[in-house]
Amino acid sequence: METILVLAHTETDGSLAKSVREALHAAATLHKSLAGSKLVVGLIGDNVQAAANSIAASPVTKYFGVTGADFTPSRYATDAAAAEAVFKAAQATVVVAPATSRWARVLPGVAQRLGGRADTHVTGVSAEGGKIAVSRWHYRQRMEAVLQRSQRPWFILIDPGSQPACDCGAGTAAVENVAVPLSDACKRTTVVGVRAPAADAQTIRPDAQLLFVTGAGWTKKQADGQTHLPEAETIIRGFLKASRASLGSSKSLVDQSGEGQAVLPFLSHLNQVGQTGATPRHPKGLSTCCHGEEPHTVGWRFINERRAISLDPNCGWARGKADVLYVADAFAVISKVNELLAADGKA
Ligand SMILES: Cc1cc2nc3c(=O)[nH]c(=O)nc-3n(C[C@H](O)[C@H](O)[C@H](O)COP(=O)(O)OP(=O)(O)OC[C@H]3O[C@@H](n4cnc5c(N)ncnc54)[C@H](O)[C@@H]3O)c2cc1C
Repeated sequence: METILVLAHTETDGSLAKSVREALHAAATLHKSLAGSKLVVGLIGDNVQAAANSIAASPVTKYFGVTGADFTPSRYATDAAAAEAVFKAAQATVVVAPATSRWARVLPGVAQRLGGRADTHVTGVSAEGGKIAVSRWHYRQRMEAVLQRSQRPWFILIDPGSQPACDCGAGTAAVENVAVPLSDACKRTTVVGVRAPAADAQTIRPDAQLLFVTGAGWTKKQADGQTHLPEAETIIRGFLKASRASLGSSKSLVDQSGEGQAVLPFLSHLNQVGQTGATPRHPKGLSTCCHGEEPHTVGWRFINERRAISLDPNCGWARGKADVLYVADAFAVISKVNELLAADGKA
């Protein structure tokens, strides 16, 4: 009989991130299809009562909490100690957690300490005939595998954005406090601050409806024999501001900064989509001035509806990579779109 533990850390304001609700949805679905299983939650943070209350109407039967200022920051030693203590208190066999950078760093190590196994980047969890199976993508999202394991404990890290978020409502939850004694060695690392771009400078928006991809064409000589970088920057920034799209890029464009050429200053390697970049999840994608080569488009695996604007009618997008290809000048098209968005009061 499985005891499924959902592990979560609270945000700085004491709330739970959407990724926790997604992991909870996956765990609750698993629990429903596994007869005799138990579903419990472990929360880690300064104070976890509000977080527990916010999901109190879920099918969870027990809440465990590790609380206090020592457990507020993301720190390997204290996070690992807390996860291990909750795991033992819950007598769990399966642990489901969101693959946040915090948990992805810690939980495989905890699995090792407990003699278990960990699977990361999981995009689906199911149970058939009493056996749990997880799915994940391999070879840069080209192949999907379904895995089963007899080893317990089994730590399963769910990729954010791969599940619907559970809309379990609020209530009052009884949280059992789990004491975690910490040696001084566990507290050697201190978090002195967080550096993050200002909200309007943040171009990567995982929750956006649209992924807007810029390719190297934005920096190339155009029909007049000239490059138009300042114009490209204005058009792209204008579109992002009006549409609230997430900004992706081809490798060629982000690489140009490393090669000392003039580039768009708001792009970094974090924006790169593809084989050696990211595989974002958005309902729609619009590629501009990008050729649509396989190492790039493999990063579009989880983009549902794909459109591209390229001057080249023989580009990769035309060869089955996009649902719609506009053979057109992206400078002209996006400028026009910006105008229409402005007329619609969106700019
Ligand atoms: C091992 C390996 C890993 C790689 N990993 C990645 C990866 O993760 N991500 C990635 O992106 N690439 C990756 N690449 C590189 C990839 O193969 C391509 O070189 C790259 O994606 C090309 O970028 P691009 O399409 O922006 O540029 P280009 O190939 O230069 O294409 C520019 C396009 O813009 C069009 N264009 C120009 N002006 C306009 C205009 N005004 N309007 C409309 N269209 C216009 C041109 O017609 C052209 O099609 C990898 C390559 C290798 C070998």
